[in-house]
Amino acid sequence: MPRLLARKPEDRRRRMTAYPPVRGDEPCRKVPPDVFYPDLGDDPRDLDHITAICRPCPILLPCLSWAVANEQHGVWAGTTPNQRKQLRRMGRAA
Ligand code: SF4
Repeated sequence: MPRLLARKPEDRRRRMTAYPPVRGDEPCRKVPPDVFYPDLGDDPRDLDHITAICRPCPILLPCLSWAVANEQHGVWAGTTPNQRKQLRRMGRAA
C-alpha cells in the first residue's frame, strides 16, 4: 500500500535538525519517524492518534508556521499535508 503522507520518513530527523527552533525534546522525537507517514488505508482513528502527538509540543506554533511553508509530506505540527495545503491557500487569499 502506498504511503499517504510520505516521501521519505527517514529524512525526517535530518529535516528536524535543519529547523531552527528545535530543542531536541519535542514529542515527535520520542517515536519512530515513520509513524508520521501512515499508509493509505490506515484507520482514520490512527491519524487522530498521530496528530495528537504534537499537542503538548512547546514549539507547536513555530513548527506549524515552518511546516506550512516547507513540508508537503507527513504529519507536522499536528497537521496533515491537506490541512497545510488549505492553510497555504488561506494565507494567499488573505
Ligand atoms: S509540533 Fe509536532 S512535528 Fe513539530 S516539533 Fe513538535 S512534536 Fe515535532
